[in-house]
Amino acid sequence: MHAICGDFSLNSSSNLKDDSASMAPTAHYGRFAPSPTGPLHAGSLLAAFGSWLHARHGGAGWRLRVEDVDPPRTVAGAAAAQLRTLHHVGLHGDGAVMWQSQRGPAYQQALDTLLLRGHAFICHCSRSDLAGNGGIHHACVARAPRPDPAVRFRVPPGTRIAFDDSVRGSQSQEVHATVGDFVLRRADGCWAYQLAVVVDDAAQGVTEVVRGADLLDSTARQILLQQALGLPVPRYWHLPLLLDAPGHKLSKSLAALPVDSSRPVPVLRQLWQLLGQAPTALDGIDALPALLAAARQAFDPTRLPRSDILIGAGPPPAGALSAPMLQNPLSPT
Ligand SMILES: [Zn+2]
Repeated sequence: MHAICGDFSLNSSSNLKDDSASMAPTAHYGRFAPSPTGPLHAGSLLAAFGSWLHARHGGAGWRLRVEDVDPPRTVAGAAAAQLRTLHHVGLHGDGAVMWQSQRGPAYQQALDTLLLRGHAFICHCSRSDLAGNGGIHHACVARAPRPDPAVRFRVPPGTRIAFDDSVRGSQSQEVHATVGDFVLRRADGCWAYQLAVVVDDAAQGVTEVVRGADLLDSTARQILLQQALGLPVPRYWHLPLLLDAPGHKLSKSLAALPVDSSRPVPVLRQLWQLLGQAPTALDGIDALPALLAAARQAFDPTRLPRSDILIGAGPPPAGALSAPMLQNPLSPT
């Protein structure tokens, strides 16, 4: 396989000192970390606004990070467009934007630490090698060595991670049984999302991860990595997804439409309602700075919806918006 993200390396020039102590957060920080795979759509802006509200309401900082760790999925110009949309709707991060494409040395250092501690191993297994076990890796079954092996995180038998999601309540995952040993660095040389997000959340001092519920399933793997690297485990808040049918993410239709950021006030009003917030709190406010100030003050995290939001044909459930309302003002540009 062609090495898209650089040659495979087991030993970096970075030292292996454990600097987790220096990463300990001294303040509260939230973050928004979009992948630049296209324009920001309603679903991703819902996560951005929810995360911003949560941080600013509590007097916390808010970081921005571009998750361009996966070059084959990165769309040229998408990151700049996403940041421009955030700027237009008044959601400004603290400090410089972090770009994952520039974070290779930090990921290599974390990988070296995991290898040194026996939490990671070199894997020559191909997809077809693992097909017999449903694609889940429990032991190396490679029939031949590969020139481009991956590196996986070792998930011992019986490994189960339980955590309390601040929106959705108690969660648990049998990580060994349902996920198995997961990839940290892919055969094409690219860093896996799970490693990058854990290293970067720690480096940015993130204490509150507020994001879409499509990442709920990744959380147990991220907690395993945090534990193995000696990093603090943030609190997790998983926001509702916008769906057009039960279990069907609205990625192919309405929610994939770019947000019309030239009209930020009506867009934020709709997102405010989707986040279950007090309907009258923003009444009579037409200026963006005043709307954001009122929203950050009135935000109530206990009102966040605990389940996904159905938007589409038929009568909308109480509190949800209908498709036409979403299309206007969240209309294509
Ligand atoms: Zn293997």
